Amino acid sequence: MKKIIIAIDGFSACGKSTTAKEVAKILGYRYIDSGAMYRAVTLYFLDHHISLTNPKEIQLALDEIKISFKVNAKGKTETFLNNLNVEKEIRDMRVSEFVSQVSTLAVVRHAMVDQQRRMGKERSIVMDGRDIGTVVFPEAELKVFLTADILVRAFRRQKELLDRDEMIDIDTIVGNLLKRDEIDSTRQESPLRKAAGATEIDTTAITIDEEVDEVVRLAVGKMLTKKK
Ligand code: C5P
Repeated sequence: MKKIIIAIDGFSACGKSTTAKEVAKILGYRYIDSGAMYRAVTLYFLDHHISLTNPKEIQLALDEIKISFKVNAKGKTETFLNNLNVEKEIRDMRVSEFVSQVSTLAVVRHAMVDQQRRMGKERSIVMDGRDIGTVVFPEAELKVFLTADILVRAFRRQKELLDRDEMIDIDTIVGNLLKRDEIDSTRQESPLRKAAGATEIDTTAITIDEEVDEVVRLAVGKMLTKKK
């Protein structure tokens, strides 16, 4: 079957990464979590007290940042920042609270998009994020746009945080998700929106398995009909 690019976009906590990971596993494709890259940059900026109003400082910091992914012994992809495993830290609330602001910066986005396009050169990739179908791979054979009810999203995120022993009340999580939705969809540089030709899936009332089945079904359809 032909190799394709699968772009999965949508709001935070709609099940993008869980779906993307599982679809990649089933198809034997590489999975890239583009949000993890923005989170890694944010972690670096926080730890190095980089001012978002100082372009010179930002550029110097970006030159120092090397992001990579490695698959661990359990088959899980982990994010590395300058060769340090930051998979856990980049999911902390302090990063979640700041990441959307960092992601509005054009210079940060350009650096990430360049790297993401390089990763997609070989195709056979599932990448999830906010601008994958619109900006990073507008030519992707399959584009999916996930949505879900805000409370469902918040409970999913709360469970994820609880699984890592972080207890955050539901109102704080709803507040964080809504704030990020607002920043992500109104920013000037590549705002979050459904790409032309994307298939929208509302995940409010369906299980992850159903979500995965649907994306795999769409992907196989594209692989079979792709010309070359
Ligand atoms: O996917 P996740 O929720 O981990 O992404 C964290 C944040 O990174 C998003 O809220 C968004 O601000 C930013 N992001 C982005 N473009 C992407 C992926 C993530 O701006 N392609």
